[in-house]
Amino acid sequence: MSRVYNFSAGPSMLPLEVLERAQKEMLDCNGSGQSVMEMSHRSKDYQAIIDEADALLREIMNIPDNYKVMFLQGGASTQFAMVPMNLATKNKKADYVITGQWAKKAHQEAGRYIEANAIASSADKTFSYLPDVDKSMLTPGADFVHITYNNTIYGTHYNTMPDFGDTTIVTDMSSCILSEEVDISKFGLIYAGAQKNMGPAGVTVVIAREDLIGDALDITPTMLKYSTHAENGSMYNTPPTYGIYICKLIYEWIKNMGGISVMNEINVKKAGILYDFLDNSKMFRGTVVAKDRSLMNVPFVTDSDELNAKFIAEATKQGFVNLKGHRSVGGMRASIYNAMPVEGVEKLVAFMKEFEANN
Ligand SMILES: *Cc1c(COP(=O)(O)O)cnc(C)c1O
Repeated sequence: MSRVYNFSAGPSMLPLEVLERAQKEMLDCNGSGQSVMEMSHRSKDYQAIIDEADALLREIMNIPDNYKVMFLQGGASTQFAMVPMNLATKNKKADYVITGQWAKKAHQEAGRYIEANAIASSADKTFSYLPDVDKSMLTPGADFVHITYNNTIYGTHYNTMPDFGDTTIVTDMSSCILSEEVDISKFGLIYAGAQKNMGPAGVTVVIAREDLIGDALDITPTMLKYSTHAENGSMYNTPPTYGIYICKLIYEWIKNMGGISVMNEINVKKAGILYDFLDNSKMFRGTVVAKDRSLMNVPFVTDSDELNAKFIAEATKQGFVNLKGHRSVGGMRASIYNAMPVEGVEKLVAFMKEFEANN
């Protein structure tokens, strides 16, 4: 068997142990005589799986009891509509910080239903930094303020939380959930597509404070109301059963490793190896201001498009795949989520050193 080091931004690598466990349980999960894919979502066997997923996520993320966990579909992109429809119900207005494509899409979608204000943007420098924001910039009466906690495409991350006073904070954590400890109580709602750091594509996790989710706009389709899913334990309709099962295996893997704090130590180490090299290289450099760097997505460039292309092609041959940067920025990007082993980053850096010496 030869597995590549996959630096894709998503869907991305999954831990080998998790894949092997899923393989082992493929035909007969837990003595049920069936694959999880074949189980009725109303069966006892499946109920145990989703209950455990919920309990494990609560445990590893330290989610307070007054928050609901929902396992939904439609990707993080569906949350761009669900969030304003469900949360902007008092004054029908909300604020958005524009830190990249995903933030922009969230803002645009919200504008279809409510007054959505962009209070700051880093578009002037290709989103290579996070603009300073604080409560004085908020629109009076905003029902919430939305931030993208980790900007997957540009490689920025809120290393310190902005102070928004008492205004409800909603955040898109698609590309950093489970990578670092977060104080859930600082947020009204957190959402994340699973396919970056939590499982396979097809599952979206929403963690929402209970008092925020009962009062959606009248136009909200039943399937897009948080209350529909919260009141039915994510079983109003058929949930993405197999995807949730893989998420559960990931949560177990993190727990067995010592939890998110240990995961974070490994992530700090991995990103440090790569950033140290970039800061000292004469050929490669990172594109993000140091204080806003992400542990998960590391964009970098050389001074020449040809050299970038040559690097990507040679890296691919060596088994370092999907290093091409997002089409909107060019260059390279190494996404080094939880499942990327330290060894994968060490080997990539060794290859980059060799490439620099030869070119
Ligand atoms: C990938 C990504 C999205 C889009 O997720 P889908 O599941 O494809 O809808 C949204 N926000 C962020 C931060 C992402 O990384």
